[in-house]
Amino acid sequence: MSQFVIDATAIAYLVAAVLFIMALRGLSHPETSRRGNLYGMIGMTIAVATTVLNPSVMSYTEILVALVLGGAVGLVIARRVPMTAMPELVAAFHSLVGLAAVLVAAGALENPVSYGIADSSGAIFTSSRIEMSIGAAIGAITFSGSIIAFLKLRGTMSGKPILLPARHLINLAIGAAIIAGVVLFVQDQNATIAGVPVFYALTLLAFIIGFLLIVPIGGADMPVVVSMLNSYSGWAAAGIGFTLQNNALIVTGALVGSSGAILSYIMCKGMNRSFISVIAGGFGGDEAAGPAAAAGDKSVRQGSSEDASFILSNASKVIIVPGYGLAVAQAQHALREMADKLKEEGVEVKYAIHPVAGRMPGHMNVLLAEANVPYDEVFELEDINSEFQTADAAFVIGANDVTNPVAKSDPSSPIYGMPVLDVENAKTVLFVKRSLSPGYAGVDNELFYRDNTMMLFGDAKAMVEGVVKALE
Ligand code: NDP
Repeated sequence: MSQFVIDATAIAYLVAAVLFIMALRGLSHPETSRRGNLYGMIGMTIAVATTVLNPSVMSYTEILVALVLGGAVGLVIARRVPMTAMPELVAAFHSLVGLAAVLVAAGALENPVSYGIADSSGAIFTSSRIEMSIGAAIGAITFSGSIIAFLKLRGTMSGKPILLPARHLINLAIGAAIIAGVVLFVQDQNATIAGVPVFYALTLLAFIIGFLLIVPIGGADMPVVVSMLNSYSGWAAAGIGFTLQNNALIVTGALVGSSGAILSYIMCKGMNRSFISVIAGGFGGDEAAGPAAAAGDKSVRQGSSEDASFILSNASKVIIVPGYGLAVAQAQHALREMADKLKEEGVEVKYAIHPVAGRMPGHMNVLLAEANVPYDEVFELEDINSEFQTADAAFVIGANDVTNPVAKSDPSSPIYGMPVLDVENAKTVLFVKRSLSPGYAGVDNELFYRDNTMMLFGDAKAMVEGVVKALE
């Protein structure tokens, strides 16, 4: 390869890497997220084009078939997937990244000379043996773990934790065997011959441990797991980058790996759960507390869209608290229409966003942005929580766990310690949901039974449309 091609490739990859960093920066705020997405798309186009146009490519047939097929599948899925199914889609995609890491490592092992990772006798360099074995192990864990996460999120597999007896011991033993396999493989100078069975054995064990690690984790923790697997898939991709000696892949993998880890940390903090307790599993299985079990003989005050319209139009300040049910009902446009009507009547309207409202970080921000809700009306938990006491009404729409005061009062509750929105401090709390069912954590919400609460039972979109009609 000529020096010019090497230099041009390095520069193009550098530009792509800078664009990826700018994409992440842009995606961190709703106002700049579209631009961030655009940077990411341009960066990815440059990275793919630079790789595909490299003169060392020997045949374009397979590449074109893969690009067309993959692109078509991606396009169809992206157009069809509902917002609420995004975490499971991400999990499915991660499994492919993991599998790709394993296949590239296996391909390099079988053909080390053509990959440029071995000397002329075919002995693989030590550094490459380290990257390949660790990359393949992480890739295999990502693959099987992501498949379980996908099946759990999709509901194909029960969201309840499946707790195998002596699971910690089994996991420890398999983990130790994988590390031993990596050490054996790395130490084997002639890895092309004796190292092959060790490589496949440690990869197989990694597939098994990926499955065992995710099966005991309950549905409620699955989004954290998806983000953690996102991080793993990034490190696996960085591993492939070293094997293929591709700088763009190393940088991208490291960006995905570290941003996934930071996201997992943010989610754990938002739920006041430690990362270790998520990994240890067992949370989210207590969903037996259904509506009847939850309600017992306690009574609730029930209202209609007309009642809500009366309370809201007579308020001087209303704080809207959106949650997962808003996404399910796709009620964001109707909600904005309601807020516009209230503002026309002189009511001050604000939105309070909990960091883990919905099923992924930023879920509510995306929905509100889709409905063109002005950004200056949207506030994070810590910025607005003290304002509920000055609000005449809190309009809680499809949110539940993120308002549950049990998180502040009952140390035995699974959500104890999670910061929550203090909606009960508002003069009136209006709860839009279809029943008294608990939220994702499976915990009853005592706010439903309080004197200053009015339950507005129904689908979020239909209820808000009813309020808009009544306001007219
Ligand atoms: P919740 O899951 O607590 O509650 C959502 C409520 O929406 C349900 O109680 C449901 O009640 C109601 N609902 C569902 N569909 C509709 C509909 N069509 N119309 C009206 N209401 C509807 O959601 P929150 O947003 O309050 O809390 C998020 C939960 O997810 C937390 O437990 C959080 O820890 C967890 N989580 C979030 C993550 C994130 O990153 N955002 C990550 C990991 C976990 P009903 O069935 O009665 O209608």
